[in-house]
Amino acid sequence: MEDCVHALIIYRLPFTIYWRANLSAPNIETIVSLSKRRGFVFPSSEIYGGLGSAWDYGPLGVELSNNVKRAWWRWMVHERDDMEGIDSSIILNRAVWKYSGHEDTFSDPLVDCKECKSRFRFDKLIDEYILSDVARQRVENPGQPVKRELPLLTEGWRGLSILREKINCPNCGKKNWTNPRAFNLMFRTTIGAAAEEDDPNALVYLRPETAQGIFINFLNVQTTMRRKIPFGIAQIGKSFRNEVTPGNFIFRTREFEQMEMEYFVRPGDDEHVHQEWIDYCHDWFISLGISAENLRFYEQPAEELAHYAKRTVDIHYRFFPEREDEERQWDELMGIANRTDFDLKAHSKKPEKDGERINKDSTEDLSYFDEATKERYYPYVIEPAAGVNRTVLAVLMDAYTERTTDKGEKRVILKLHPELAPIKVAVLPLAKNKPEIVALAKQIKRELQPAMRAVYDDTGGIGKLYARQDEVGTPFCITVDHQSLEDEAVTVRDRDTWEQERVKVSELQEHLKRRLGIRF
Ligand SMILES: [Zn+2]
Repeated sequence: MEDCVHALIIYRLPFTIYWRANLSAPNIETIVSLSKRRGFVFPSSEIYGGLGSAWDYGPLGVELSNNVKRAWWRWMVHERDDMEGIDSSIILNRAVWKYSGHEDTFSDPLVDCKECKSRFRFDKLIDEYILSDVARQRVENPGQPVKRELPLLTEGWRGLSILREKINCPNCGKKNWTNPRAFNLMFRTTIGAAAEEDDPNALVYLRPETAQGIFINFLNVQTTMRRKIPFGIAQIGKSFRNEVTPGNFIFRTREFEQMEMEYFVRPGDDEHVHQEWIDYCHDWFISLGISAENLRFYEQPAEELAHYAKRTVDIHYRFFPEREDEERQWDELMGIANRTDFDLKAHSKKPEKDGERINKDSTEDLSYFDEATKERYYPYVIEPAAGVNRTVLAVLMDAYTERTTDKGEKRVILKLHPELAPIKVAVLPLAKNKPEIVALAKQIKRELQPAMRAVYDDTGGIGKLYARQDEVGTPFCITVDHQSLEDEAVTVRDRDTWEQERVKVSELQEHLKRRLGIRF
């Protein structure tokens, strides 16, 4: 029965900006240390020395990331009329990645230093060079316009002459580079018990994006759910990219979770629908409590676009506020791409070139017949794609505030949106050696927990317990004291204002639900 009640809870996500005293954490390291200290995120495989940029969510981190995913799913799927969800396999037929283009093109350019054998991302070396060159010009010619040799984030192979002539190896300082070469980012494994390690027939990949699982199910979803264009298919799931240089905590990891949606539209409608989604997505981050000052749009220049994209706009978050160069403070939180009809066409058996099928392996045609206009076409696709990790990191950074108490002590308060907070309420007994108080506190916790994540804590003095809950973003603390035994009321303390009010135990659940924005 309690399970049923729990499943019915819906959190209201008001479109208001959550009040905060200051703007976000000073840097990612602050969040790394808070995460380790308070059980949000731990370095993975730590007792064996870790594993290159892998992280594990701890007890509070898993609650936070689940809350982020639930908020996204409800906003993206449940609260719309034109959306379905799926959950496709991580390991797909290899042909999917052949025809999607990932086998040929999903790679990063690498260069090696011939002297010390260190390996680097070619495009990152160029970016670093351009930024330091800009900084040098500003010092040498103050007030003069700055000249960039290439735009930032230069994908592909541009800038080879800059590498050869101007860039020293960051490790040994020499200038002796190999040619850049492509390194495919897909993790490989084999399928089936009899497979030899290098048997090409057994080769499969861990998916590098969830999107392809949606495209190959387009017809299944459209026909079983009797959908008409426009409609979308959403999916949350793990993806894997063998990044050359992961890093910055959970910002870039080789194993990560995506929240992707593919929205299918009539060709010609794609441009304005794309713009609508760009705006919706920005509003969603605002509704999570992220401040607008820390978000910006980034229009990808033509040379940066993926092979399938007509236009892509990223939503950037200020992940690196400590960096002096404003341009370097930002990085991608979400990408919203117009993928055109590239994917559905690529997975279809029909299209031909010079009288021959382009896709020789597909058994289906993924075109769509529009009953209203009597035309058949391959739908265009608008794709908002966000990472769970990056959203968690942005939410943590943005919620981070510090406050000084009357006694001059610095306190950390995580002003998380109540919907995202890992713990909604902590029940604290004022005296843990008084059995009646402890019993009442535990009973209140048990009565609240079917409706909201509640914890009981008696492992310190009340000041310390409050500070601990502030630091992990718990919106409310309930204190059970001697008087509670007499008047059947408790103290409810607000995380953000530290204001306290007395509430009857019998009215407590409704009181908290109202203030947390929980409705049934
Ligand atoms: Zn070197």
